[in-house]
Amino acid sequence: MNIYDMTKEKLEEYFLSIGEKKFKAIQVFEWLYQKRIHRIHEWTNLKKEMREKIANDFSFEMPKIVKHEIDDLTEKFLIELKDKEHIEAVLMHHDYGNSICVSSQVGCNMGCAFCESGRLKKIRNLETYEMVCQILLIEEIKKERISSVVIMGIGEPLDNYENVMDFIKIINDSKGIAIGARHITLSTSGLVPKIKELMNFPFQINLAISLHASNNELRSRLMNVNKAYNLDELLDTIRAYILKTNRRVTIEYVMLNNVNDGEKNALELAKILKGMNVYVNLIPYNETNHFEFKKSTKNQIMKFYDTLKKNKINVTIRKEFGSKISAACGQLRSKEVER
Ligand code: SAH
Ligand code: SF4
Repeated sequence: MNIYDMTKEKLEEYFLSIGEKKFKAIQVFEWLYQKRIHRIHEWTNLKKEMREKIANDFSFEMPKIVKHEIDDLTEKFLIELKDKEHIEAVLMHHDYGNSICVSSQVGCNMGCAFCESGRLKKIRNLETYEMVCQILLIEEIKKERISSVVIMGIGEPLDNYENVMDFIKIINDSKGIAIGARHITLSTSGLVPKIKELMNFPFQINLAISLHASNNELRSRLMNVNKAYNLDELLDTIRAYILKTNRRVTIEYVMLNNVNDGEKNALELAKILKGMNVYVNLIPYNETNHFEFKKSTKNQIMKFYDTLKKNKINVTIRKEFGSKISAACGQLRSKEVER
């Protein structure tokens, strides 16, 4: 087990199981996440024998940043894991603070037609520590704290449910990295059973759904997952989620030129979302040279936006980040794999 895999509750269980007091878990969390000292011999409030036992029972190994690209307000990090696989994390500077986009898997099995991460199949899930360390490593190299986390990098987070939930617990813990649940967003392609499970997860995180289409036929063409859980089922589940959690859900809609960006689509989308407590985030497509898809024109995006507005749907257009530095999810990794 890696020490950064451990939620506070799991550490408490560990200490109880070796006949120690459970508050030691808080001390460990303070060293790891508040003082950020991972050299265990400096953990002076724990006895030497205790430190030796911990060092024996846990690995403290972290992944490594092997590449760092900067483009204006976006910084992209290529991270090498223990088994030499690579993932990406992206740091974005906003007026309101910094956010990090973290990966949840090595590759992705959902195979969406436009996505670089899915082009290369899933090799494995990320361990909890490999997600936690994306944040620790970037904060360390930048010498600054980040204020929000989006789980929108490589992978389908709900296909790695347990590890992702532990990751959220650790970064949200007030003795951990202490990022408020409202500053944590999980994006999913729409794994209905897992969204139902997430309804009962006792943390008020934000949920974003990659919808990307206004009808079943189009969505099945763009996203294989729609063949397993179709649009109607997904929308019903989102309604139930909103009812249960009382939280507004984000609908992500990537704008693909002449594919899903027509006036007809905008009207259809407004119709299926009518009355739901959601807001639509229109995402300018990041073109990659492996797919035919082109980004919608600015004009088309504005028309789509206006139609949704006129039909009383809350909508925003996502700011384009780092298109120069292969910021589309998975692009940096896919270059590395090809190399
Ligand atoms: N697997 C999850 C989270 C990772 S993808 C999901 O699909 O929601 C995060 C978001 O980036 C998704 O909305 C995805 O559709 C979108 N995306 C993928 N490739 C993109 C590209 N080239 N340009 C813009 N957005 C992209
Ligand atoms: Fe996977 Fe999300 Fe990319 Fe689809 S969009 S292939 S679910 S990472």
